[in-house]
Amino acid sequence: LDPSGESFSKEEFDIERALRPLSFSDFAGQDQVLENLKIFVEAANQRNEALDHTLFHGPPGLGKTTLAHILANELNVGIKVTSGPVLDKPGDLAGLLTNLEPRDVLFIDEIHRLSPVIEEYLYSAMEDYKIDIMIETGPNARSVQINLNPFTLIGATTRSGLLTAPMRARFGISSRLQYYSTELLSTIVERSSSILNVPIDLEAAIEIAGRSRGTPRIANALLRRVRDFAQIKGNGRIDMSISKFGLKALNVDANGLDEMDNRILSTIIEKFKGGPVGITTLATAVSESAETIEEVYEPFLIQQGFIMRTPRGREVTEAAYKHLGKIKGSVQGG
Ligand code: ADP
Repeated sequence: LDPSGESFSKEEFDIERALRPLSFSDFAGQDQVLENLKIFVEAANQRNEALDHTLFHGPPGLGKTTLAHILANELNVGIKVTSGPVLDKPGDLAGLLTNLEPRDVLFIDEIHRLSPVIEEYLYSAMEDYKIDIMIETGPNARSVQINLNPFTLIGATTRSGLLTAPMRARFGISSRLQYYSTELLSTIVERSSSILNVPIDLEAAIEIAGRSRGTPRIANALLRRVRDFAQIKGNGRIDMSISKFGLKALNVDANGLDEMDNRILSTIIEKFKGGPVGITTLATAVSESAETIEEVYEPFLIQQGFIMRTPRGREVTEAAYKHLGKIKGSVQGG
């Protein structure tokens, strides 16, 4: 249930792919983002041009990769997928770029982790659809310019703050994805159950949705685990009681917070008397980077009303004390 999804097995990866919406109409939520994208896609299709380069940012599991695939489908073009850390040789990038058909999509996940050399390379590709490559070596080495087909670069990042300014400036479209409401997540859970062919009661879907940290990937992961409980401990149907049983056995937090969320809250309470505490001090205390706290954890904790941002730093709310079963004022600072 790692929100980054990095600890998923191959089988889970395949299921996740099966649950991935393929068109705008399958995709739930993010209405504002979707409305704009539909217009940009329709306009690009009418002009038979490549869609502008597009950046998706926001916490993990909210649908950035899904949207990249949907855009390729809706543009009726091919998509090549890579990621920042994987793409470390200019030759590999040149290979990808020169193989793109007109209007194709190149999707780069974790685009904030590109090396500076690769980034430099991408600039002219994005801007003029041209790249310079070195041919031959030694005294005969020279650079030649290659024309590329017009293409769309779609970048995804959880850490938009780490993107360089020149990179950011080259995206004509930039959308931030938001956490999903429980209601939306429950429709996603119902859709996924029907794809997985497992019957589910509405209230059970809502129960699972409410504990999913506002994140479709987590909702789908919980659904799959609860499905196992329904199959082995129940009658195959996911109802309220088997959901509650399963979620309890899985040790899922009642508010859907994960381990790091809870560590952040309890650290502020126990070590900093509830705050305010500066982000760098907090980051050191929980052994996580300040950027990750700011871009991955904090947005959800703020949205759920567990943390407040004040001019002097982060402060927990009453709700955080209540959630952790602690009484305000009774905890020793240190
Ligand atoms: P990200 O790239 O932002 O980390 P993904 O696009 O990989 O997230 O989404 C994770 C999973 O969540 C996908 O496999 C998909 O099944 C599901 N998902 C994400 N967004 C939606 C949505 N709006 N509607 C339905 N399912 C979604």
